[in-house]
Amino acid sequence: MSVSIDGSLGEGGGQILRTSLSLSLVTGKAFRIENLRAGREKPGLLRQHLTAVLAAAEISGAEVKGATLGSTSVTFSPGKVRAGEYRFAVGTAGSATLVFQTVFPALMLADGTSKVVFEGGTHNQTAPPYHFLAEVFVPLIERMGPKVELKFERYGFYPAGGGRFSAEIHPVANLRPLHLGERVEITSRRVLAIVANLPLHIAQREVETAGDLLNWDPESRHTEMTKNSAGPGNVTMVEIKTTEAEGSEITEICTAFGQLGLSAETVGSQAAHEAREYLVSRAAAGEHLADQLLLPISLAASGSFTAVKMNLHARTNLEVIGKFLPVRFAITQHDDFVRVEATQPLR
Ligand code: ATP
Repeated sequence: MSVSIDGSLGEGGGQILRTSLSLSLVTGKAFRIENLRAGREKPGLLRQHLTAVLAAAEISGAEVKGATLGSTSVTFSPGKVRAGEYRFAVGTAGSATLVFQTVFPALMLADGTSKVVFEGGTHNQTAPPYHFLAEVFVPLIERMGPKVELKFERYGFYPAGGGRFSAEIHPVANLRPLHLGERVEITSRRVLAIVANLPLHIAQREVETAGDLLNWDPESRHTEMTKNSAGPGNVTMVEIKTTEAEGSEITEICTAFGQLGLSAETVGSQAAHEAREYLVSRAAAGEHLADQLLLPISLAASGSFTAVKMNLHARTNLEVIGKFLPVRFAITQHDDFVRVEATQPLR
């Protein structure tokens, strides 16, 4: 039986589609979405979403209807997921990391190793930057069993795109639960600003601003100037490594992007502001990591984490997950964090 999804539910964004694709691949359940991205200024499939649909179709030999740019409904009936060698190119600066996150759950549970090249944006507004994927998201998934070798090749910033990275994914049959308790101690602090085909002083001003606002010492401030990018681009990332109550180390990255008309000082202070919000809470996961952990933990059918907050994006994601999997989540508010725990349904 096909799962029916209203794409305008909750936030009404592209995550509803990506989560549906991921879980359709893993569960074998077909789905139909209407009103795709109804909550967004330009509804329907953009290049990034379309690439995600086509990628999911390619790895599973799916039958798909509505896979065209601007389409506001998609029907997807997957076949068996096939591990293998693939290349998925967004073709614009649309986020390649979100395409990775769409097919990754199925490939980490497939019956063999996959080698996949992803092309498009690697550092986009409103998507996990490649650094976040490599240092925050993937290491946590690896604790659940799968092994992933990521290789970065070229930066892709809006609007030129043209970025590229690859992933070699070694799957497992079953995921181990992941538990992340409250944060205990900070073990490393770093601010990194990257400029691609832009003057170094932009990155220097960003790390100075962020470093000063956070009151971090000069050794924590780093810049990188690269020409390994089709166009100009700029990003500032605040990286915080901590231990949490269960005894493991986790990394969080808070990001701000340079844009025309935005001063380097504004970008630096945006990154510092998000880092402060994380640091005043005792949560292990910032708000973005929180929404990204829901799907893997659901697939393990067990797990828990502390988060700064559960925003509308995360709550919408939970609703979509509930349409494919019998998992339920308990969310409890504590003084300065929320605890999110997967619970098995009563049978
Ligand atoms: P759209 O409809 O435009 O596709 P969307 O529904 O995909 O939007 P977004 O809010 O754009 O939703 O977020 C996409 C994903 O990117 C989310 O999983 C979010 O956690 C992640 N993300 C956004 N910004 C960051 C960031 N700075 N760091 C890490 N992850 C991020």
